[in-house]
Amino acid sequence: MSHNKNLKAGTLSVWAGEEEYLMQGATQVPVVHSVSFGYKDVDEWLQVALGKKPGHIYGRNTNPTVHVFEEKIRILEGAEAATSAATGMGIISSAFFTLLSPGDRIVSVKDTYGGTNKILVEFLPRFQIEIALCDTTDHEAIEAEVMKGCQVLYLESPTNPTVKVIDIERLAKVGHKFGAIVIVDNTFATPINQNPLQLGADLVLHSATKFLGGHADALGGVICGEKELIEQIYHFREINGATLHPTAAYLILRGMKTLHLRIDWQNRSALKIAQFLSSHPTVEQVFYPGLAAHEGHEIARRQMRGFGGVLSFMLKENTFDAVRRFLPRLRHAHAAANLGAVETIVGPPATTSHVECTSEERAAMGIPESLIRYSVGIENTEDLISDLEQALRAV
Ligand SMILES: *Cc1c(COP(=O)(O)O)cnc(C)c1O
Repeated sequence: MSHNKNLKAGTLSVWAGEEEYLMQGATQVPVVHSVSFGYKDVDEWLQVALGKKPGHIYGRNTNPTVHVFEEKIRILEGAEAATSAATGMGIISSAFFTLLSPGDRIVSVKDTYGGTNKILVEFLPRFQIEIALCDTTDHEAIEAEVMKGCQVLYLESPTNPTVKVIDIERLAKVGHKFGAIVIVDNTFATPINQNPLQLGADLVLHSATKFLGGHADALGGVICGEKELIEQIYHFREINGATLHPTAAYLILRGMKTLHLRIDWQNRSALKIAQFLSSHPTVEQVFYPGLAAHEGHEIARRQMRGFGGVLSFMLKENTFDAVRRFLPRLRHAHAAANLGAVETIVGPPATTSHVECTSEERAAMGIPESLIRYSVGIENTEDLISDLEQALRAV
């Protein structure tokens, strides 16, 4: 089956990237564990090694199973090329260390994923890279920093944990005007809900650990964009060695077969749950871009096809003690540091994304003590609502 542009994301999630790698009539992609790939013809080996002929040489560089995963996400994001890494952080750090040099400047926002924030504030400055972190939804402030000059503009939308939304098209425009490479972390949205490249970004990346894999059983990361940029990032990643394992690639590929079904369901379920929580007497505020009251709702409506499976909410009793009473009462949610799986996952930023911060720092970042992140699984919505209802009685 050949893939043309008219195919929808659901069909592509199932079929894209696989055909060439199906062996001996197998209907599923093989997990190739071989570390190296042998050649009887030395000249052919040389051609592959020089990148003049497609093929595989050594598992740290490329692998057939990993390649199929890269192809599937590349096609779903409408990109020219893609390369992967062992984790989301593996691909994010590979991108930074490929694209930035001493003396360069990077503009980003305060609400990036915790690990990303750590590289930005703790590691990159040691290499004389200047970091400017803006308030996440202050578009004027971000534009002003970009206009001072920067090599990379790094965005994430929606963000963790208060699900803020950034206008990617608007900021990509100013980024390009001032010569920056624009990168978007699309982990929360997935290619089903949002395609940053179509909004003008140069590179889109994912923690495949989350929604792409969808089953919380494999780590992975991937980045897509123009061939020239991706080849540079691939070259760094093949040398730094943060290679995606073929078994993980297979698990993520299998998860991706149901990506569109899961995301469609999670979009609808999260909206209903956000509406339920908004009207609950013990809940102070709900953060979900699908709610008209959310400050990023209009931007989200323009750039997203669905609002995603993650929401957060703060309790009227704004104490960690209230969270302590509430969380253990949930019966259909893992209290864990993860999101984007088939099971609902719940956790407070104080123990997950913002564990390194003091409560004062969290307050300064607009993260209340009683904030709870709720990643909606694929359970029946009514059951999740009853579960929340009975657990909220404890607060
Ligand atoms: C989890 C996550 C990452 C990091 O991914 P890992 O696979 O855990 O390394 C990056 N960005 C976002 C938005 C995430 O949620």
